[in-house]
Amino acid sequence: MAARPSEPIETRLFINNEFRESSDKKTFEVVYPYTKEVIANVHQASIDDVNDAVTAADAAFPAWRDLGVDGRAPYLRKMSELFAEANDELARLETLCTGRPISQFIDAGMSSGLFRYFADGVWTAQGTASTHTPGLLSLTVKEPFGVAGLIIPWNFPLVMFTMKIAPALAAGNTVVLKSSEKAPLTSIFAAKLFQKAGFPPGVVNIIAGFGAPTGAALAEHMAVRVISFTGSSLTGQKIQAAAAKSNMKHVHMELGGKSPAVVFEDADIEAAAVETQFSIQFNSGQVCVANSRVYVQESVYDKFIAVFREKFAAVKLGDPLDPSTSHGPQIDAAQYKRVQEYLGVGEKDGSLTQGGDAHDGFFVKPTIFEKVPEDSRLMREEVFGPVVAINTFKTEEEAVWKANDTEFGLYASVFTKDLDRAVRMSKALQAGTVGVNCTSPTNAKDAAFGGYKMSGNGREGMLYSIENFLQTKSILIKS
Ligand code: NAD
Repeated sequence: MAARPSEPIETRLFINNEFRESSDKKTFEVVYPYTKEVIANVHQASIDDVNDAVTAADAAFPAWRDLGVDGRAPYLRKMSELFAEANDELARLETLCTGRPISQFIDAGMSSGLFRYFADGVWTAQGTASTHTPGLLSLTVKEPFGVAGLIIPWNFPLVMFTMKIAPALAAGNTVVLKSSEKAPLTSIFAAKLFQKAGFPPGVVNIIAGFGAPTGAALAEHMAVRVISFTGSSLTGQKIQAAAAKSNMKHVHMELGGKSPAVVFEDADIEAAAVETQFSIQFNSGQVCVANSRVYVQESVYDKFIAVFREKFAAVKLGDPLDPSTSHGPQIDAAQYKRVQEYLGVGEKDGSLTQGGDAHDGFFVKPTIFEKVPEDSRLMREEVFGPVVAINTFKTEEEAVWKANDTEFGLYASVFTKDLDRAVRMSKALQAGTVGVNCTSPTNAKDAAFGGYKMSGNGREGMLYSIENFLQTKSILIKS
């Protein structure tokens, strides 16, 4: 299947409502991971370009803020329409950038829904008022920060884009969004939609480039007042340090994971196996909440692993643009190499019992390791590939200890039919979200999403996302 789309791909920066080339003319290649064909040369924002984008956003802020929620909502509703209409182009561009099978693409519809929600969602972010202090009317109100810097990863580029840009704008901030250097095309395409929707100049600025210099320049910028970041924990630490050293801007971090699933003998074993294998296979394991560690109670291990193996092996590798493909390649050579390294660790420390072998291109077949010691790097570090370690446990206490023995804390699952145990485990597991009898449903829109420990701070998801883009002011009125 030909990778190159019929229409030319927009590759420029979007600053102050205009598409422009990077000031130093530097570009970088975007490669379709399946054919390794270069599909675009994208303009890389220089430090001057970052400054221009922030200056434009800063100038646009007062008028955008003063429109109020009702004044801003029609722009966001228009974006919801445009995203829905552009579904097919966005699906193709996202697949070309990431290699995720097009059959898994629901992201334009999700984005459309998020813009629709956030258009009016800010009404739910309320302040408080009191007369408790004699002679004072005390009002606590919520206000936008000003310029929001948004930095996103490559694994779900479009949904990450919307999850940040829609609430930031709805709350009254203006934005500079830096896409991932591995998957910038849907962000640039979305810039065309913002232009079409008639947003005032400077409200939305979308730039592309690497962590350095582009991302770092945004994180350090003195006129950026809040950074919302999704990516690895290591980069999160750098951004938090840059924020602290520059102007103490607010930071909100959605970081990596090493999510455990615990399967008890009283669970629906087949359902648990089906859910957990999908969690680590979906998007070739390049998912922050993928359950890369599965702990199964000894008495049901054989039954569980039989179903898991069968389903895990049934994927269809192929061209991600082919709707029948269910398993795509890793996004690029670096990611492929990284997964290969962890396959080596797994073979050394545990037993490789399925997959493991390389395939033509950047493909990694769904891979199972068993009997991996808890202190192996395979159990402690984020692989970001379709590689699972499945171990056993005897008691609930042992399962809790093993599941929590990690610096990450993004998501944890427990499979059981015993309600008392489900409640106990939900309390005991150290994670921002605990799924009982489920891995990570994509339709849990109203739930807060975010990490404990090294998996981040702050929360995303509907109301929680809006709160990230509002600061609190007290107004004291003497009477
Ligand atoms: P990454 O940290 O390498 O890069 C993320 C973004 O940060 C990119 O846009 C990159 O250019 C930028 N960046 C890199 N260095 C920077 C710096 N010094 N200053 C500013 N920006 C910089 O992560 P990635 O490889 O793109 O994404 C994979 C990671 O993201 C995984 O760890 C995954 O778990 C995590 N992730 C987390 C969530 C979540 O919601 N918790 C969701 C998706 C992905």
